[in-house]
Amino acid sequence: MKLAIVALALVLSACTTLIQPKLVSSPDDGALEDSSVSPYDNDHPAISRLDPKLRDAMQRAARDAEAKGIKVVVTSGWRSKSYQQRLLDDATSKYGSLEEARKHVNTPDKSTHVTGHAVDIGFTDAADWFSRKGSKYGLCQTYANELWHYELATEPGGDCPPQQSNAAG
Ligand SMILES: [Zn+2]
Repeated sequence: MKLAIVALALVLSACTTLIQPKLVSSPDDGALEDSSVSPYDNDHPAISRLDPKLRDAMQRAARDAEAKGIKVVVTSGWRSKSYQQRLLDDATSKYGSLEEARKHVNTPDKSTHVTGHAVDIGFTDAADWFSRKGSKYGLCQTYANELWHYELATEPGGDCPPQQSNAAG
């Protein structure tokens, strides 16, 4: 009987190992399981590790957008350095060179997502609303080729600085 219990325990622990493969990118890296997360999910590292001022501004803007009937999701927020590096590696494969990839994905040392100072807004209707109304909250689209990417870049109600053409600029 004892042997059977030991055997069962061994089988169970083997199964647990098998059904929990190591994740390539986990929520602890800021990765999103369903490619987006609620702007108000303060328990998710992608949201909780944002700069608090950026998070407040983004959440206030999202509530106002939703009051106008526009659903807002966050498609990327805070990211770990290793997650950022993986995104850059993936983009380098996709675009064929690091130089081209850099126009779309920053390095871990330069990314404002890694410092918690950037948030990507979806979907298109919501990003469009942020591009028109964001400055009221201090939120600015910082790259001309990224309608979804917002940073706290002005005083609330101020003017946004000129956009950089892309993340490599
Ligand atoms: Zn971004």
